[in-house]
Amino acid sequence: MSRVADIVTTCEELYEDLEFSACRAWKEEAPGRHAIGYLPMWVPREIIHAAGMLPVGILGGGDKLEIIRGDAFFQSYICHLPRSVIELVLKGNLDFLDGCLFPSICDIVRNLSGMWQLLRPDTYVRYVDVPQNFEPDRGGRFFRTELRKLIDDLGGIAGRPVTDDALKHSIELYDENRRLIRELYDRRSAVPWLVPTSEVYLVQRAGMVLPVEAHNDLVREYLAAAEMDDRPERDNSRVVVSGAFCEQPPLDLIRTLERAGCYVVDDDFMLVNRWFAQDVARPGDPVDALVTAFLEQGIANPARYEPHAGTKGQDLIECVRRRDADGIIFAAPSFCDPALLERPMLQKAVEAAGIPSTAFKYSENTGQLQPIREQAGTFSDSVKLWSSV
Ligand code: SF4
Repeated sequence: MSRVADIVTTCEELYEDLEFSACRAWKEEAPGRHAIGYLPMWVPREIIHAAGMLPVGILGGGDKLEIIRGDAFFQSYICHLPRSVIELVLKGNLDFLDGCLFPSICDIVRNLSGMWQLLRPDTYVRYVDVPQNFEPDRGGRFFRTELRKLIDDLGGIAGRPVTDDALKHSIELYDENRRLIRELYDRRSAVPWLVPTSEVYLVQRAGMVLPVEAHNDLVREYLAAAEMDDRPERDNSRVVVSGAFCEQPPLDLIRTLERAGCYVVDDDFMLVNRWFAQDVARPGDPVDALVTAFLEQGIANPARYEPHAGTKGQDLIECVRRRDADGIIFAAPSFCDPALLERPMLQKAVEAAGIPSTAFKYSENTGQLQPIREQAGTFSDSVKLWSSV
């Protein structure tokens, strides 16, 4: 087996392990360790790390988990992710977590935080509210208070305060992680046949369950190994995937896009890894550094208020141009309010910019992939024809 295949196999094992064995093993390595879960899309993992804890990304149950009791907790017409998270809680798969952070994405995640509190009253639960006003003396002041509260809470659970030095060190480690993920995305765009999206995805997913130090090593190793592999370049189209930021598509769906002739050259999977386009670290108070980064550098996404009229979709258009993409695949979870409410605005903007797109919905347990393969394949063929006119 080649080195790259070896790394990808390890990542796939982590991806498929709904028992979270790697996280359990990390906790068992030393007494008194804590693990804190987080839902998509963004939480300040730096603070969890600085408290000496393991941040654990909870991205649902994927297509391997049968939902038996989780359905009883939510309406049948909403997205799939909250039901599979509840199923995991009820089955005991998340019993190693000492707490969970619920980011401010949508009402469903807010409700899920309440369900979690009822089912796991023994754990710490926090709804991570983020500002939608980006003025330092308003949104910034609010967010600083929120982060300080989180720091105090986690320090209380850890039994020792979170120091500024620890937080600065954690910010540096996550800055390094973001630099490596940016490099991974840049290499994929440059040579997508050597760095395919199904592998980029798995390498990123490993970061949801590994300590950041180990994940940094893993991304470095994958980048080096992928360059050494000998894989043929195909006559594929180059597409950007948009809308898959929360409930994740099944891995087979990503592979289906590739088999349909698409090189995915950018996407919005696991935005927590790429929330800031520049380093967060700066001299002075590390909490101020996080606040400033959130106010000034947060990437465009449906959960972030866009204060300037007429600019919705411009980041996506710039992404298509920067990646030299032929078109966009809008792929959103079924009944995902943030993605599907934003989609018409994005479609209007990209259409006006002359960028072709196609759209479909999925859920994390989508099994019927042939229609998606046909749609993506037809789109891929047609954008290649259009772009060669
Ligand atoms: S998939 Fe969409 S609607 Fe469902 S929890 Fe995530 S953001 Fe909310």
